[in-house]
Amino acid sequence: MKAFLDDRQRAHDPQHFMANGTRLPSPEVPARVDILKAGAEAAGAVFEAPNDTGLGPIAALHTAEYLVFLQTIHTRWQRIEGASDEVIPNIHPANRTDGYPRSAVGQAGFHQADTACPIAAHTWESAYWSAQSAIAAADAVASGERAVYALSRPPGHHAFADLAGGFCFLNNSGIAADRLRDAGLRPAILDIDVHHGNGTQGIFYARGDVLTVSIHADPARFYPFFWGHAQERGEGPGRGANLNLPLARGTGDEDYLATLDTALARIRAFGADVIVVALGLDAHVDDPFQGLAVTTEGFARIAAAIAAPGLPLVIVQEGGYVTDALGANLTGFLGGVGG
Ligand code: ZN
Repeated sequence: MKAFLDDRQRAHDPQHFMANGTRLPSPEVPARVDILKAGAEAAGAVFEAPNDTGLGPIAALHTAEYLVFLQTIHTRWQRIEGASDEVIPNIHPANRTDGYPRSAVGQAGFHQADTACPIAAHTWESAYWSAQSAIAAADAVASGERAVYALSRPPGHHAFADLAGGFCFLNNSGIAADRLRDAGLRPAILDIDVHHGNGTQGIFYARGDVLTVSIHADPARFYPFFWGHAQERGEGPGRGANLNLPLARGTGDEDYLATLDTALARIRAFGADVIVVALGLDAHVDDPFQGLAVTTEGFARIAAAIAAPGLPLVIVQEGGYVTDALGANLTGFLGGVGG
């Protein structure tokens, strides 16, 4: 299997995030890259660096205002006396349609949904190349590959058109799907990260040409809380083209696979001719987020079920944090896909 990764994706090294009022070390560490790369290679993946396709495919989904912010805010933040090295917001607009703030602090609050997306000197560079890896995977599948893996890190599915959040800055899976759409294909995004893909849902919510399906721990008591509920079905031309399948905390392999059947039936009914798999591995039973209880063998079975209909797959890495099983979970998944 072809796989894509650029070494510049390691440079982003977020230090902290807040959980339940406590400042904790960020689990989205550069070491994930090495663990995931080794796990993919154990399944036969062969890595290459992505081409640079420029900002066009990224700006197709993200606002120019937001892209300027991501590229410049760290430098501007450093001009604030006593500022931290990482840009972390401390105030957010109650209504995001009431105009655009001029100050760095105001813009941080406007474009960063939470404290889990700190921006440091290398954040833009890593996010940019993470997106390029996803674009390269989409291009390879559009050119006839059956399944391709993008080791996209930092991840992307919590990033909206103009809003970072949850370790995510650019929506890699969404960018890949939009790229496939441009190639004349009809993509479905299947998000199996333990967290709801709220950014992806937001980007495509009013679009009927890309189906978005997410299986995740019930947001009633789990991040991202405000999205991911079953009644969110899309709007306008996108009505019925968004499917959320929340699962009870602690759900294991058998119930997960039954829900996956529902997801795959919707993808079939949509007439998708390619699937973008937003591959979070944090549904694993040992993941620090403790949302679901999928096993390593379960990931192989999930992959086999996704691959069974024979649609080409663009597999884009999302979450999944450091445990003894992280590499094996990716090996199991990519092995389950086959080829
Ligand atoms: Zn996640």
